[in-house]
Amino acid sequence: MDAFVIGVDRGRYRCWMDGQAVTAMKARELGRGSIVVGDRVSLAGEVSGRPDTLARVVRIRPRTSVLRRSAEDDDPAERVIVANADQLVIVTALADPVPRPRLIDRFLVAAFDAGLEPLLCLTKADLGAPDELVDNYEPLGIRWISLSRPFESQLDQLRTLLANRISVLVGHSGVGKSTLVNALLPEAGRAVGPVSPVTGRGRHTSSSAVALQLPGGGWIIDTPGLRSFGLGHIAADKVVSAFGEFADAIAGCPPGCSHLDAGCGLDEWVAEHGGPAEFARLDSLRRLLRSREGLDPAEPAES
Ligand code: ZN
Repeated sequence: MDAFVIGVDRGRYRCWMDGQAVTAMKARELGRGSIVVGDRVSLAGEVSGRPDTLARVVRIRPRTSVLRRSAEDDDPAERVIVANADQLVIVTALADPVPRPRLIDRFLVAAFDAGLEPLLCLTKADLGAPDELVDNYEPLGIRWISLSRPFESQLDQLRTLLANRISVLVGHSGVGKSTLVNALLPEAGRAVGPVSPVTGRGRHTSSSAVALQLPGGGWIIDTPGLRSFGLGHIAADKVVSAFGEFADAIAGCPPGCSHLDAGCGLDEWVAEHGGPAEFARLDSLRRLLRSREGLDPAEPAES
């Protein structure tokens, strides 16, 4: 029977099936393949969902998308965070804490690599204007919304953008992501995800993702405690292609250009055509590229 993985906790998989949560373990025949939140799986065995029962995951359906990260930028070993999502919601406060465009750029690279449509969700708009930040992403046509506090009354537009989709929410601490998640969900939805009756723990491990069902259809996948968002698994040219506004300029680069050294066509292009947004984005791209070479520290996902 088909189910949707909503939580993973120490070898136990919380699955949503026919309107209820069922806890399962991985069937031996599945081998070492990983099961992550968002996976669509087939369950067998005890699927009643009653306390102290355990079903078996016997099959993982092919994934339509895979959101990955690596521990460090210079570590190519990838970790799959979420499967089958179609949208990456990048939650950023406009003030307190100040926006971190380099972290946004990092999330965008991961979104484009995974084939997820990015959405900038700018919180605390009562403290700061979105214009300067949004200017950076205008050439890429990235969708954005801003929310002032208290935002409970302004959630309709966000709900529309999330409806019937599988959206992963990312953002560092203090940006209001947890408040947003709670506001989007009714009480009942909040109780469903993290609870793990088999292990007897009422919480999921701090680094894992958890899927929560939206009242109007669709899922949001929260990613608490994601300390790093390394891009070591993504080839350099894919990192560069996430900075789409530079695509034409790069055509003027010498063959095999690392975009880090003298002679890179981007310097000339930015000097000629660039404003503050382009300079900031080029700096961000180069820091990402250097970090992948182990030359620069990565922008942490948690402050
Ligand atoms: Zn170059």
